[in-house]
Amino acid sequence: MKKMARNPNQIAGIYNYCDGWCKRCPFTSRCLTFAMEQEDPLKNDLKANDIENKEFWDRIGENFRLTLEMLYDDANRLSIDLNAIPEDTELNKMLEDRHDAARNHPLTKKATQYMHMVDDWFKGSKGIFTLKADELQKKMVIELINKDPVKDLESIQEAVDIIKWYFMQIGVKLSRAFSGRYMDEVEGWNLDGEFPRDSDGSAKVSLIGIDRSISAWGSMLKQLPDEENQILDMLVFLEKLRKQIEAEFPDARAFKRPGFDD
Ligand code: SF4
Repeated sequence: MKKMARNPNQIAGIYNYCDGWCKRCPFTSRCLTFAMEQEDPLKNDLKANDIENKEFWDRIGENFRLTLEMLYDDANRLSIDLNAIPEDTELNKMLEDRHDAARNHPLTKKATQYMHMVDDWFKGSKGIFTLKADELQKKMVIELINKDPVKDLESIQEAVDIIKWYFMQIGVKLSRAFSGRYMDEVEGWNLDGEFPRDSDGSAKVSLIGIDRSISAWGSMLKQLPDEENQILDMLVFLEKLRKQIEAEFPDARAFKRPGFDD
């Protein structure tokens, strides 16, 4: 792990502001998180995914030990006293207040609302997808000129993948943005602005998720015109949320995510 972390090809901290979609990421060769996953000898072992499997938990335990070792090495190097943490009750109260501030913000709640809207739509749209599949199959059989059903099918699949990837993440990243802002403004971290604000970075990831979801819903609308009302509702909701997040975090778009914005 240490050897991989020292690889000069890695972009430090790139995984902090990505969307976690490694399959679609253009920086897998420069990401420590990805490298560690590939090095994992149990990665493709189905047993490793079984939470009741002893090997799985042994591996988690070993990762925990290695991570702590690295943390203490780094703390020593940076002269950070890991024992100088608040008392348990004080710490718990602080974390609770921070989570409440993030969770209860009206925009986090809106992002959660979007999540439910998408979930409901997919649950209710199984029949629509079946009808569309039948329609495309018929087009394939009769080979209509100027129609490319395979392309249409790919377009739907891509839109579904994008929407499903981001519909929960938008709220999670937004919540982290509010949590980061609370840490800066209330708890007094990074008061002098020595470091780039994590809140802006997280808000940016949330905004990117919204941008891509808007684009995906646009494709979906072209493919499923009968769903116009519900899809338009979704688009209007996302567009309003996007504008409100930008107003709340005016510097988010300018935040430089390591690697992605260099
Ligand atoms: S930076 Fe890319 S490869 Fe690394 S964790 Fe994020 S999405 Fe995956």
